[in-house]
Amino acid sequence: MSIDSAANAAYLIAALLFILSLAGLSKHETARRGLTFGISGMALALIATIALVLDHQPPTLGIVLMVGAVAIGAAVGLWRSRSVQMTEMPELIALLHSFVGLAAVLVGWNGYLEPDLHGELTGSLLGIHHAEVFVGVFIGAVTFTGSIVAYLKLSATMKSAPLVLPGKNLINLGILAAFVILTVWFVISPALWMLIVVTALALALGWHLVASIGGGDMPVVVSMLNSYSGWAAAATGFLLGNDLLIVTGALVGSSGAYLSYIMCKAMNRSFISVIMGGFGIEAASGEGKDHGEHTEIDVSGAAEMLAGASSVIIAPGYGMAVAQAQYPVADLTRTLRERGVDVRFAVHPVAGRLPGHMNVLLAEAKVPYDIVLELDEINDDFADTDVVLVIGANDTVNPDAAEDPGSPIAGMPVLHVWEAENVIVFKRSMAAGYAGVQNPLFFRENTQMLFGDAKDRVGDILGAVKDQQGAGV
Ligand code: NDP
Repeated sequence: MSIDSAANAAYLIAALLFILSLAGLSKHETARRGLTFGISGMALALIATIALVLDHQPPTLGIVLMVGAVAIGAAVGLWRSRSVQMTEMPELIALLHSFVGLAAVLVGWNGYLEPDLHGELTGSLLGIHHAEVFVGVFIGAVTFTGSIVAYLKLSATMKSAPLVLPGKNLINLGILAAFVILTVWFVISPALWMLIVVTALALALGWHLVASIGGGDMPVVVSMLNSYSGWAAAATGFLLGNDLLIVTGALVGSSGAYLSYIMCKAMNRSFISVIMGGFGIEAASGEGKDHGEHTEIDVSGAAEMLAGASSVIIAPGYGMAVAQAQYPVADLTRTLRERGVDVRFAVHPVAGRLPGHMNVLLAEAKVPYDIVLELDEINDDFADTDVVLVIGANDTVNPDAAEDPGSPIAGMPVLHVWEAENVIVFKRSMAAGYAGVQNPLFFRENTQMLFGDAKDRVGDILGAVKDQQGAGV
């Protein structure tokens, strides 16, 4: 068997392994197996590609450089994935998407400037090639700057509030229209200036699309950029004539698009509005309202309240992840349950900074699965609950989302914690949540604030509850 057919067979197997990987990743019981399939597919694809390149040309400086670049990339990737904190995962993912976008732009430009290839293609094939170059560069550049803005927003280097330029929808639609016209023109008469213009327009569009989306919608943006990076990879596959890259890109592109759709439904957001950079959503700040005074509670007061409770719901959020408070939270849960208190967790679909973030932390701390409930399963139970502990959550428990149509997060489903008899909020200050909007929950009569690092405060309460137990309270 020639190296060519062996490599093609390896690509086919790798594509199947990627499909199995996606299927595995859809459930947490099979996720580990899914990852193994994905890693095996990628290793197989890399080996086949290197074998193919070596077979087609003798070892030259170019190949040595390529292997060197792969080795350096692998070393940096291994180091980063070992050192990254769980809370930094979304920003790392956004940065990685930007690399895919940049690669698509560079491959596109290379496809235009590469003189050998132009010689081989004639007639309609050359036209198709030029369309591939143009589309690949466009999608790649949008993905590149869009992902950089997402990275800056997720790492809090850039404000998460939406950028609202006058006529923002017209800007986006104008760039899209210019792209369509330029593509037709480029296919007919490919001039360098058009490639320069479309690259600049697409870079600006990517930046503007993501900058226009507010913090509350960032989870959808991350999965949308995931989808874009897939389409950018597929466009690169067409240009390089690499079937595996086309299949893989299409898998990432379509699964990312579907994930964005599911997340939009869960967040009650319009899919079209989000992919069009907040199309149809006008500026709304929700700021500047006078919410009145908040009340505070101390550790012994909170412990006493828990001593008198028969039902408790814990609503965790990003602050629990930052403080790594899941371990004392799990200990407190165990202690209360041993006392006969009904303790359950309410997990919002976008609590934290990545889908399933809270589920992973709670599983890590060995909280039993059967007391961890999703928003839909538990939202009606708050009204019959004695005490709710909001641990580092903010946007996901903001009543304005349900009650104030002018709020930037209006319509987003939230946990109705305020319906409980008592609410204790664990956070360090009165600062707003990720979406940058103040939370009226903190000023409600049945809410009391417990300031400080969530891990320290939960640990203190655990100590106080155990002391009560020792004293026979
Ligand atoms: P938020 O991000 O809205 O708020 C977290 C709160 O935790 C802050 O108000 C902060 O207040 C507090 N906090 C931070 N550190 C600590 C600490 N050490 N101890 C105690 N409290 C702390 O949290 P939610 O989980 O409710 O909401 C998630 C937000 O992130 C949503 O807007 C969502 O759309 C967005 N998002 C979600 C993604 C996902 O996929 N899940 C991805 C990207 C964004 P203070 O500073 O006063 O302590």
